[in-house]
Amino acid sequence: MESTLQLEIVTPDKVVVSQPVDYIGIPGVGGEFGILPHHVPLLSALAIGRLYFRTGDKTENVFISGGFVEVSGNTITILAESAELAEDIDAARAQAALERAQARLDSAADDVDMTRAQLALQRAVSRLNIVGSM
Ligand code: ATP
Repeated sequence: MESTLQLEIVTPDKVVVSQPVDYIGIPGVGGEFGILPHHVPLLSALAIGRLYFRTGDKTENVFISGGFVEVSGNTITILAESAELAEDIDAARAQAALERAQARLDSAADDVDMTRAQLALQRAVSRLNIVGSM
């Protein structure tokens, strides 16, 4: 039996990861959970946060901003609205997004969509956490 599972992380724009891995830690809407090879079939919703995967003794971090995870056969597919490997996160851009979102939330103006600003803030904070800038 294979000791790895195939991880596919896909966004509307691109395939971010496509490789065999040993283990995946996933930010689910109900909390973090892990997937090992030969997991039972699963369909679940994703939160905004850090996903990580291990291959041998190497661990890689990936930002994901919601979507769905499906485990089927020995493949795990992450369909995310956006996703970036840690090394591809632009910290300055995330910092600017954080400040924009914070200013919108602080203004409490009538035309500000608070939910949208909260989600933008969460994405920015999570990206900065992953690159270690917070
Ligand atoms: P921004 O306001 O800076 O666009 P956002 O959180 O609204 O941030 P998203 O809607 O999550 O951005 O993503 C839009 C696209 O831009 C996606 O392809 C995403 O991967 C990319 N992206 C957004 N922020 C960053 C970042 N800080 N570093 C690298 N790529 C990013």
